[in-house]
Amino acid sequence: MRCVLAFLIGIVVHGILDITPHQYPFRTRIDILISTLFFIVSIMLIRPKFIPLFGAAFLGSILPDLVNLGPQIFNQFFETSFPVLKFKIFPWHRAEYSGSIYDNSRTELSYTFHIMLVFLSSALILLGRNVLRIQKKIAKCPTNRCSKR
Ligand SMILES: [Zn+2]
Repeated sequence: MRCVLAFLIGIVVHGILDITPHQYPFRTRIDILISTLFFIVSIMLIRPKFIPLFGAAFLGSILPDLVNLGPQIFNQFFETSFPVLKFKIFPWHRAEYSGSIYDNSRTELSYTFHIMLVFLSSALILLGRNVLRIQKKIAKCPTNRCSKR
């Protein structure tokens, strides 16, 4: 159940971030490379029991791009001819709802949102208990009797 929820939250957060005005500081290839590296490093940093939850959230957060933009990007990179949907299933990829900015008119706003996202994500990761392998495990102890161990 938690994985399904994480998957759905990943889709919703993707939509919110795509609707928010933003520019792309990196080219698509670099963007995909950095995202893949973040994913691999994240898998290495989190405790194994959270990997399915993390995987579900990650899959949910990339699904809209995979469905709406995946074949087009794949065709562009590998000169293939996979069929491309003529409509966008996820509405935030349609021109009228997308926050994508391609004319560099709001660079500062875009960078502000990117920095806010990095800080928010970092705070959530650091505030999470027992999520990272490097964090000390917090023992489950309903009483104070076991705290002297
Ligand atoms: Zn998207």
